[in-house]
Amino acid sequence: MRINVAEQLKQPIGQVRCYQISESNDQELPIQGEVQLLRTGRGILVTGSLKTTVKSICSRCLEEFDCTLTLDIEEEYFPNTDRPMAEEIEGFVIDESHVLDLTEAIRQHTLLTLPMKPICREDCAGLCPNCGHNLNRGPCYCARETRESGK
Ligand SMILES: [Zn+2]
Ligand SMILES: [Zn+2]
Repeated sequence: MRINVAEQLKQPIGQVRCYQISESNDQELPIQGEVQLLRTGRGILVTGSLKTTVKSICSRCLEEFDCTLTLDIEEEYFPNTDRPMAEEIEGFVIDESHVLDLTEAIRQHTLLTLPMKPICREDCAGLCPNCGHNLNRGPCYCARETRESGK
């Protein structure tokens, strides 16, 4: 997710460019969506909404599933050359070859967006507290016994 912004840095403040992002390879998380790059007085403001999918473990049934996250990105990037003082900068840096790299921002937003208790689906039945059977795959013997003894 590297965007060359050499051209845009020469543009007047307020100029906007849109980029479609659609990446999926083995090294990085699959990412899809659109970002807007806004030329600001100091650098470039990146905003956008991106979708990614991470492997998660369901907190109810303990099965692995693909958890889709929506990342609402809003980060300002500053050119490496005219940054006043490193400590004053809150945000990301555009490198010497004018490449704005979204990878780190996406990584951070992914961590922030990860649910504390992911569930594979809204109606996940979870595990039987008695025998640990995954109830998404059907009832277990405990359920059958309770039903029979309840008669
Ligand atoms: Zn589940
Ligand atoms: Zn059971």
